[in-house]
Amino acid sequence: MEPISLVHASLGERELAAVAEVFASGWPAGQGPQGKALEARLAEKYGVADAVAVSNCGAALHLAMLAFGVKPGDEVIVADYGFPAPAQAALYVGATPVFADVRPDTYTVDPQAVADLVTPRTVGIVAVDTVGMPADYTELQAIADRHGLFLIEDAACAVGATYQGRQAGSLAEVGCLSFHGRKGASSGEGGALLARDPAIGKDARLRSSFGIGSIFDMGNVVGLPIPTFTEIGYNFKLSDIAAAILQVQLGRIDELLARRGAVARQYAELLADEELLTVPQVPADRTHAWQTYMVTLDASVDRAAVASDLRGQGIGCGHGTFAAHIQPVFQAQQKCPVSADLAARQLAIPMHAELKPNQVERVVDALRSAVRTHSSVTRVLGGAA
Ligand SMILES: *Cc1c(COP(=O)(O)O)cnc(C)c1O
Repeated sequence: MEPISLVHASLGERELAAVAEVFASGWPAGQGPQGKALEARLAEKYGVADAVAVSNCGAALHLAMLAFGVKPGDEVIVADYGFPAPAQAALYVGATPVFADVRPDTYTVDPQAVADLVTPRTVGIVAVDTVGMPADYTELQAIADRHGLFLIEDAACAVGATYQGRQAGSLAEVGCLSFHGRKGASSGEGGALLARDPAIGKDARLRSSFGIGSIFDMGNVVGLPIPTFTEIGYNFKLSDIAAAILQVQLGRIDELLARRGAVARQYAELLADEELLTVPQVPADRTHAWQTYMVTLDASVDRAAVASDLRGQGIGCGHGTFAAHIQPVFQAQQKCPVSADLAARQLAIPMHAELKPNQVERVVDALRSAVRTHSSVTRVLGGAA
């Protein structure tokens, strides 16, 4: 039987045509006409003062830390459950990541856990829109305001999601997007930093290009501008090749999202009666981008055995996402029991815009039979019968 992949980036003829145009233009590097057009489009779409196209979301988070002046000795509260890029970003600038546990129902950071972790050394909060589900920004912003902290939205997985009628990515003073091949809109690798404050955007753009302005611009003025390097800068620029691909992807985002949403609805319907797992629930005030579809297996189910069964049938699957506080690099002494439990029990099943209804049915049938085979509860009952 044909394999069903866990992920599949929807890149096709239109993206190829956009790349061909960049080749013809002679400017494939960053901060050229395509990069500028992408940035203008992102700023408009998200209603923010500035959008900086960067090489990936990890770079956007790093730039955000630098722009907010985070320094050694500072504490940054980060959502524990998710790809641990925010905690890595805190380490890049010598700060200490402090891990906040998540809600068991949405898997997003628990605002009460955040409030409990604020100390005199806390400078900011990074919330994560876990696999595409926006966090509780009303409550998080109130905590940030009460203590004078910055709030960053890691919307890496959430392009297209909404919270209380507003777009994910624009829910905090800085939003960080990822255009990695596993996210809803992709250029292979890519990212963006969205800023409400133009000074933050300006700082991030300068640091993203070795601390100097666009080389493309310098070559296109009369005269001989020679840049001066005054600060440490990095090369976090997004190529114009990627920027061209992303403009096509952003034009397709509603269509791609609708297809992922249809897959999620079909999974939820077909799996609603399965007692050995639960499917994600989306609160009424937000919508999900469905970057990943994770089911939570009953504690009696052997997840690794289920995964082997599925993979043996050509069905892609994976562990859900990461509990950051247990990763050795962070040497955290903290406990985040909800996050640790989710990390142990969640299973990601195929989710992308190319999935067909009959493939979803095949995944569901295989998953249902695998969880029943590999549940210790079923085995005991089966043995007694
Ligand atoms: C994927 C992801 C990132 C990293 O994105 P890159 O573009 O690969 O750097 C950061 N944060 C979260 C929550 C992610 O899921």
